Amino acid sequence: MSSKRKITVAYGDGIGPEIMKATLEILEAAGAQIEPEVIEIGEQVYLKGISSGIEPKAWDSLRETKIFLKSPITTPQGGGFKSLNVTTRKTLGLYANVRPCKAYSPYIRTHFPKTDMVIVRENEEDLYAGIEHRQTDDVYQCLKLISRPGSEKIIRYAFEYAKKYNRKKVTCMTKDNIMKLADGLFHKVFNEVAKEYPDIEADHKIIDIGTALIADKPEMFDVIVTLNLYGDIISDVAAQITGSVGLGGSSNVGEDVAMFEAIHGSAPDIAGQNIANPSGLLNGAIMMLVHIGQPEVAEKVSNAWMKTLEDGIHTGDIYQEGVSSQLVGTKEFAQAVIDRL
Ligand code: NAD
Repeated sequence: MSSKRKITVAYGDGIGPEIMKATLEILEAAGAQIEPEVIEIGEQVYLKGISSGIEPKAWDSLRETKIFLKSPITTPQGGGFKSLNVTTRKTLGLYANVRPCKAYSPYIRTHFPKTDMVIVRENEEDLYAGIEHRQTDDVYQCLKLISRPGSEKIIRYAFEYAKKYNRKKVTCMTKDNIMKLADGLFHKVFNEVAKEYPDIEADHKIIDIGTALIADKPEMFDVIVTLNLYGDIISDVAAQITGSVGLGGSSNVGEDVAMFEAIHGSAPDIAGQNIANPSGLLNGAIMMLVHIGQPEVAEKVSNAWMKTLEDGIHTGDIYQEGVSSQLVGTKEFAQAVIDRL
């Protein structure tokens, strides 16, 4: 019997196949003990008339392996099929979306070289619960769902994360000056849970000024815990200010199953051109290796990736005259990481 850990893999849409290929090649070269089982999701499945974007047998694979390495998928905007990302997170109970955003200065130029924050985003509730109604042709309603158990689970996750990784502060972001009941509940639960962690500083920012501060003074943040929609938005801001949205990886964690991905989307504008940065998915894969008990391989890949950045070997999204030494494509970037393993 193979000692390799079986994982479920989806190549996704747009730049998905290119960055997944690059990521898996790096993992294989690094000696990761994984056995990928490939499932189809996204556009190719919608085209078969399956409106969920995922075939029933793919769920069997996910429930068996319990680990999902997923490329981004294209979701129709303003109509069409429901987001498969939202379906996956809800079906598998992936309640915590963890998105580290760190500056890699001086190798990637940023105005904020000391940025090192982790955004912990609630992943199942809020406006993403998918409760939408038509009232009339001119009036539609989307319900914001916030529950005490859901809030408690994610807030406790954020504090436990801070404790485990020796982080000093957890900031809660809500808009409870306006949504006094829904966001108010999240803030209230935050204050309650924070009392259980007296060694960790706890504070609260209203989401609008919180977002402005992330864009202007990101170094003041450590761990941020917030609601689904706010977390989605601020993590793109946070990744972008560290150099590129193409750098960020994330984990989506549940009691039973965990999914690892890049924070960005399928980038159809650059698909098939060998110019996408595979770092976001690679960083997601590094988190996966730690999760499945292969931290030495994770460290090896992470060091080789950092050395590639240090050597100035950069894809177009992070390439800068005077900082970078070589402009490379997706495949060449992956090869450069492999050469440094
Ligand atoms: P996007 O993140 O795909 O792209 C935004 C911009 O960033 C584009 O200019 C793109 O070229 C650039 N970019 C993104 N990733 C990059 C990378 N790895 N290297 C270099 N440049 C990169 O956002 P979008 O264009 O708003 O969305 C495209 C599609 O992706 C939509 O259908 C959206 O619903 C979907 N999406 C999927 C996920 C997911 O599967 N988890 C997440 C977000 C968006």
